[in-house]
Amino acid sequence: MPRLVLFTDLDGTLLDHDTYSFGPAREALAALESESVPVVFTTSKTRAEIEKWRRLTGNTDPFISENGGAIFVPEGYFRGDFVYDRKEDGYLVIELGAPHREVVRALEDIRRGTGIEIRGVSDMGVEEVMELAGLGEEDAGLVREREYGEPFVVGGGSEAEETVVGEIEKRGLTHTQGGRFHHILGRSDKGKAVSILKGLYVREWGVVETAGIGDSLNDLSMLKAVDIPILVRKPGGGYDERVSITGMAVADAPGPSGWNSAILKLIVSFSEKGP
Ligand SMILES: [Mg+2]
Repeated sequence: MPRLVLFTDLDGTLLDHDTYSFGPAREALAALESESVPVVFTTSKTRAEIEKWRRLTGNTDPFISENGGAIFVPEGYFRGDFVYDRKEDGYLVIELGAPHREVVRALEDIRRGTGIEIRGVSDMGVEEVMELAGLGEEDAGLVREREYGEPFVVGGGSEAEETVVGEIEKRGLTHTQGGRFHHILGRSDKGKAVSILKGLYVREWGVVETAGIGDSLNDLSMLKAVDIPILVRKPGGGYDERVSITGMAVADAPGPSGWNSAILKLIVSFSEKGP
């Protein structure tokens, strides 16, 4: 029987868009734990932020930071050897994203060239990040510990946004969007990272079935890369219409409430398939 691996977005998905609480998802988290299903945080968050949420949820599985910038595998998690780029603080790290300074430089170049008002989190003080992200001071500090991608906001409406997206793509870099920010990345995305990590699980366990759950455009590549894609609702109750995949399941509620019911359903349908 295949083993299940779950890839999950955090902001607006496992964590409530406004309060960042995962409280409503506790039942499903416990069910995954008792079924020994790995829960791979696959998020735009930095490693520093993710480590906080791993501690709070008791998660010890690998994770994917900064929209696919890097895969962090705890040392000894897989029995087999695999190729990684660096060893750091007990993780074997596979790097996929361009260095942060490179994407920041590209963003500066676009700002100068177009005159469009672009503000990256690296240009902002902690207070501005706190306000835009709805975070406390300590958490806003962790947002700014970037290694790969740069979240940013654009002034000037949708026309300016389209211009910026075009300029990013012209440079061979990647644009995506989460619940609050635009993101500029190297040639990496969540989907590439998910495929590589899935490969490591397959080598370890043989047959693996993957599920993915997210809420925004930056989850599209992840949802395309998994066997079972699930979309949760936005705070207003609607869906991100840019995220559409044939056969995709949709949760019945936003954020962690939708996560909870969709994952409980997933576990039941998976176990009913039987050995
Ligand atoms: Mg999200």
